[in-house]
Amino acid sequence: MPTLRDLLNRNVQEADHTLYEKLDRNRVRCFACGHRCPIPEGQAGVCKVRYNQAGTLYVPWGYVGGVQCDPVEKKPFFHAHPGALAYSFGMLGCDLHCAYCQNWVTSQALRDPNAVSPPLAASPKALVSDALRQGARILVSTYNEPLITSEWAVAIFKEAKAAGLLAAFVSNGNATPQVLEYLRPWIDLYKVDLKSFSDRHYHELGGRMGPILDTIRALHQMGVWLEIVTLLIPGFNDSDKELHGLTDFLAGVSPDIPWHVTAFHKDYKMPEPRDTNSEDLLRAAEIGTNAGLRYVYAGNLPGRVGGLEDTKCPRCGELLIKRLGYFIQDYRLTPEGGCPACKYLIPGRWPAKFAGQIADRPFVPDHSSLVKIRN
Ligand code: SF4
Repeated sequence: MPTLRDLLNRNVQEADHTLYEKLDRNRVRCFACGHRCPIPEGQAGVCKVRYNQAGTLYVPWGYVGGVQCDPVEKKPFFHAHPGALAYSFGMLGCDLHCAYCQNWVTSQALRDPNAVSPPLAASPKALVSDALRQGARILVSTYNEPLITSEWAVAIFKEAKAAGLLAAFVSNGNATPQVLEYLRPWIDLYKVDLKSFSDRHYHELGGRMGPILDTIRALHQMGVWLEIVTLLIPGFNDSDKELHGLTDFLAGVSPDIPWHVTAFHKDYKMPEPRDTNSEDLLRAAEIGTNAGLRYVYAGNLPGRVGGLEDTKCPRCGELLIKRLGYFIQDYRLTPEGGCPACKYLIPGRWPAKFAGQIADRPFVPDHSSLVKIRN
């Protein structure tokens, strides 16, 4: 009986040459994420999906772990084509192991025997035509950590961009300069999940904070549209001190980077801390606003966070986009992406005209061109 790993090991190709180097004794070093694993022959990296066979690095190819159509607000992107449908695909595996992961079926499929998600065979053409058929405007690599499967994402993004779609990553941000350069020509939007502002906490999740802060700086410098999300977990990352550090850092990179602070609910292996309540979100949002951030949003508690789901003009206070959860209730930006009252230009990627919303909640498309990978 083949294991999930056996099946996946047949769906690979050699890594891009800019994303690894050959070392002595048939070892390789991978640059797809901040771990920069040196990988001995016959072994896989920390992510478990990139592995060294006879001195060549092999990486996932030709499948998806899952596909879903999400409102772009769910990713969350609030300053990029509001209301657009984001055709979202994931692969399997992750380079971190957060106990509270909300995508654990795909991210931990190779570590946790309870996380079973049969992969679906896919081609870039089939995914893009499915996305177009659904009316999507954006193609998103998400659910698992997309950096570890960057080659496959780029293959899909090339096809997507030729079809006029935008391309996005929803990522933990544990990147390297090499992988960001590799992605740069093909990516429009990048969401970084900044999980904490403590290196000790990042160690608990299996990473380091330094590469993630470097990624945020680099993406902003590259001009990729960037939004940051922090899942606020009571007792883990919600101290005033940590939130001051985090928001001061972001405002120092740019006060125009939207920051989403979202509510945690008990999940996966972290049933212990209580759920985040609206008072927690309001406190965190106030810290972010006082740090100088101009666009602070509170998520996952629709209708319970005052105006913190809406976009307002930072100059005159005019309401620009009114939201309830993922639903756009009102859109008032000018075709240039400006405030209709004072003409202040709001940073983001705005359409000339609001195109309405196909869906304000996620749905699984009928993806008949994708079939389960069997032995
Ligand atoms: S993607 Fe990251 S975890 Fe995986 S092999 Fe490369 S450096 Fe290691």
